[in-house]
Formats: sequence, structure tokens, C-alpha cells
Amino acid sequence: MVVSAGPTHEPIDDVRYLGNVSSGRMGFALAEAAAKRGHAVELIAGPVELSTPAGVGRTDVQTAREMLTAVRAAFREADALFMCAAVADWRPRRRRRGKWRKEKVDGDSAILELVRNPDILASVARRKGGRLVVGFALETGDGLRRARAKMERKGVDHIVLNHADVLGSERTSVSLLSREGGLRRIGPASKRAVARELVKLVDSIDSAG
Ligand code: C5P
Repeated sequence: MVVSAGPTHEPIDDVRYLGNVSSGRMGFALAEAAAKRGHAVELIAGPVELSTPAGVGRTDVQTAREMLTAVRAAFREADALFMCAAVADWRPRRRRRGKWRKEKVDGDSAILELVRNPDILASVARRKGGRLVVGFALETGDGLRRARAKMERKGVDHIVLNHADVLGSERTSVSLLSREGGLRRIGPASKRAVARELVKLVDSIDSAG
């Protein structure tokens, strides 16, 4: 099983980056829960300050493009992917050397040109065959509708929907959506308890069908 976790950092210069807010806790809890259920687990981790759960392999990455390479390589030998990372959608077109000095900019505004990062989940899902691919979605507003649309668009088997108020928190509550229309609510509970329940549910759905 491959689990991605944490943010990606997209360098602006040698001391700054663009990135999402993400503690990595949910992904690390999933990796731990899966390993405890006997799965061989490889964790692809963005920059986070968390220690590796017992019995889990780990590859550290910084950027979305590095994460794409690492996830692809690990998924070659895997049966399932939990794409839990908060990947930055955009990266600066170029990384400035040293420090981007404000003295070099005229006036009070500056332009940072961005280019789109690859969608790791959609790209891996295209070549998944019969293997299980689970995406995560953090939505505001009509979350269920958006999450369903995302599941279709990215071609994944399940989407785990969570809400923005869980960021950085120890507790969470999620909905597990299935391609076939299923909807299971899990929590509110600790991220570790939700992770255990998610792995158990996905194991049972997967072996049933
Ligand atoms: O489109 P959105 O970012 O909301 O989709 C969330 C899901 O897609 C998560 O599973 C996330 O890990 C994945 N994703 C990705 N590559 C991106 C953006 C998101 O794999 N560039």
C-alpha cells in the first residue's frame, strides 16, 4: 500500500516556497493503521515534522514533481494508493537563486508567474488497472457534490471527504464516497481512530468486490 502525506513545497527562491497548510497527521495515521493490519506500506512524505510509524517504509520529497516520481515508482509494486497529500496545484515558473530581494522590485506590487503542477492522483489512476486508488478532498460549501465530481473526474475508486475545520487538529470526521454511490460517515474521532476505520472499510469493500 502506498500512502502520500503532508504538503508539497514549491520553491520561490532559496528561502521561500508556496505550499498548502497540512500537518501530515492523517496520512501518517493511515500508514500506521495499514501496517498494523499487516499491509506492507510505503509512505511518501512531503515536508512534515512527524516520525515514521513502526514497520513503514518512507520516502521524503519536497515538490509535487518529486512526489509524482516517488508515488509512481512505489505504486508499481503496490495494490493500493491512499493519496492523502495536500499537493500544491501551482509552482513558480522559475526558482530564483539566493533571495528574491524586495529592493529589486519597483513599487508595491510584484508578479510571480505560476505554472500548473501535475495532478498526481489523476495521472496514477489512469494506469491503475484493477488496483485500488483512494483520493482525499477538503471542500467548503456543497462538499458532497464536489467530492463526487472529483471522484469521477480523477477516475478513482473512493474519495474521502473532510472539512476545512480539521486542519492541524487531532480529531476529524470524514465521509467515504464510493464510485458505486456508497456513502459512509466516520467520526468525529481521533485521526488515528478514523484511519483505522478507513483502512478496515476499504479492506472489506476491496475484498468483497
Ligand atoms: O483537486 P483537489 O486538490 O481538491 O484533489 C484532491 C486530491 O487530489 C487529493 O487526493 C490530492 O492528494 C490529489 N492531488 C494530486 N495532485 C495535485 C492536486 C491534488 O494528486 N496536483
